[in-house]
Amino acid sequence: MKKNEKTPGIDEEDFLSNPKIMEHYSLLQDIGVFRHIDVLKQEIRNYKNLLASGLDIFNRTSIDEIMDATVWQISDHFLPSFIAFLWKPIQNKDEITIKGYKNYKPADLGLKVHSITPFEPFFQQYPKPINFDLLAFELKNDEAIKPFEEIKPELVIPILGPFGLYGMIAVGRKILEEEYSQAELSFLQQLMSFVSQAIKNLLHYEHSLRDVKTGLFNHGFFMTRLNEEVARSKRADYSSSIIVMDVDKFKNFNDSFGHLAGDRVLESLAFTLKQGVRADDVPSRFGGEEFTVLLPNTGKETVWMVAERLRTSVAAMKVPWEPPLPQVTISLGIYTFDQKSGVDATEIIHRADEAVYLSKERGRNRSTVWGSGLLFRIQNSKLHATIENPGNPV
Ligand code: GH3
Ligand code: MG
Ligand code: MG
Repeated sequence: MKKNEKTPGIDEEDFLSNPKIMEHYSLLQDIGVFRHIDVLKQEIRNYKNLLASGLDIFNRTSIDEIMDATVWQISDHFLPSFIAFLWKPIQNKDEITIKGYKNYKPADLGLKVHSITPFEPFFQQYPKPINFDLLAFELKNDEAIKPFEEIKPELVIPILGPFGLYGMIAVGRKILEEEYSQAELSFLQQLMSFVSQAIKNLLHYEHSLRDVKTGLFNHGFFMTRLNEEVARSKRADYSSSIIVMDVDKFKNFNDSFGHLAGDRVLESLAFTLKQGVRADDVPSRFGGEEFTVLLPNTGKETVWMVAERLRTSVAAMKVPWEPPLPQVTISLGIYTFDQKSGVDATEIIHRADEAVYLSKERGRNRSTVWGSGLLFRIQNSKLHATIENPGNPV
């Protein structure tokens, strides 16, 4: 057959105008051929819609966007009493993030789930969306099921990947206690399987940017962001800054209290850093007991205040451990760059490192701003003035 020729009988108009159809019209009508064709046509429309919805969801670039898009897609079909997304933001930790929706809007569902681990063996064996009552029956773990009982999900969809159960999505019954039709349930199961895959992909991406132990950004991501910021600073008329931090005498700490206690300190420190910076800043674990923060669009005065706030917060940090641990401190180095600096990322880090080195030399638990004076190992007295007078850093 030539390229543009139609397959005979496939085109709907051809098919219906075929004289043989007219000849047998009542027979075909009687045995339900036309009705069947309508049902198939509807099914094709449904699959096309499902694929379009799936594609829309796969194209999203954050979990928040995926959740919003999912709720939006479902709103075209029916109104579930709620949708709850639960996931582990850090791969090897049990911690759970929960986001709920009611009436298509973000809402607090009062869902208190602290761990999804009890569900893991079941979903490993049965990696599919499942009716909640059936899940409760099969799981035989009242404690794990209890938090969900108040909100009464209809369907629970696992988010699974090579590292186990990453999360779950719970979809509520239809509002007004109406039952879902078979077609609606099937749509929901298929759409939510796409959603689960899309969230898994994004979690893999996000995990690849983070340090496993602390959940902070890793060295690679920090360097990527720093390079971007250096490139931007050449065009922009604002300053950006970095802070490099190193835990003081941490080798001694490990030797005295053990590596596990040391790890716990690093986790608490990471938490303190995250709490102490803005959403646009990039707090990272640079390696070992060294941390960095990139502060885009932040000048000398502000970065000094941030560094000192971080330093005092770390010194006041309470690390949960028995028996109680002594306070740990950090030494900080600061470097601020702008259009005129003419330095690359490596040099920026080198300069902040030099400033850390001076903080160490001057007694630790302090911040130092890199400045031209440092190149000539400036006198202690001058540096001291910097620290006492944050408004006028070196
Ligand atoms: P300084 O004040 O000069 O920085 O002294 P320091 O002992 O911190 O410096 P040093 O570089 O000699 O030692 C760093 C220590 O940090 C040694 C290493 O055992 C510890 N460390 C690095 N990464 C980790 C980690 O992931 N967990 C634990 N517990 N310790 C770590
Ligand atoms: Mg170090
Ligand atoms: Mg150290």
